[in-house]
Amino acid sequence: MSILIISDIHANLAAFQAVLEDAAGQWDTIWCLGDLVGYGPNPNECVNLLKEHDHISLSGNHDWAVLDRLDIHSFNDDAQYAVKWTQSVLTDETRTYLETLPTALIKPPFTLTHASPRQPVWEYILDSYTAAINFEYFDTPYCLVGHTHVPVIFNQENKQVVPYRPQEHDKAQLDDTRCIINPGSVGQPRDADPRASYALLDTDKMTWEYRRVAYPIAETQSQMRESGMPIKLINRLEHGW
Ligand code: ZN
Repeated sequence: MSILIISDIHANLAAFQAVLEDAAGQWDTIWCLGDLVGYGPNPNECVNLLKEHDHISLSGNHDWAVLDRLDIHSFNDDAQYAVKWTQSVLTDETRTYLETLPTALIKPPFTLTHASPRQPVWEYILDSYTAAINFEYFDTPYCLVGHTHVPVIFNQENKQVVPYRPQEHDKAQLDDTRCIINPGSVGQPRDADPRASYALLDTDKMTWEYRRVAYPIAETQSQMRESGMPIKLINRLEHGW
């Protein structure tokens, strides 16, 4: 089976559509690792588009924030604005859907979680040290995470954790090496490449193919301007940070 792995769409419909078009006909189902909403201008549209496809999805910290499941004062001012704006436009249908999402799932041989196995909603796995600790918190060979918006594979080799930054179209073979994998972000990449980031997981060949696709960033930005979103959130999209 081929699985489209996406994370951190962040209500960016143009980016999500570009990913679906780029990967069209190449996958059987979608695994979404959370943060469907927050930051971007199209929360309802993104959720509706995801629901059109066979999929499973997790809930992320931004999804929790719009559901009032966490104190948004832990967010910076720009992110707080985005949460409040999202709450103001969220339909009952979208809210009901978001309320059903878990923060972690086990789909052997994969554990799926938004942030980290240790703290499914909050912890950022940005370095080998944090990754090393987290290998103790899941039992499957592999763990898929989002949250940092940075694509990476942390391989656990002889008790050392070695980060691997995949290049576009790299196909990693999943073997005896345990790993924590992040597909990057669809709607707000933060690795200095503004293109939408995603991956294709082939569970027969056990390969992880890393992908990037350009999307009309200006389209998303102009909608954000109309929504009164903070300029920093608008500008960051074209820089990929
Ligand atoms: Zn996110």
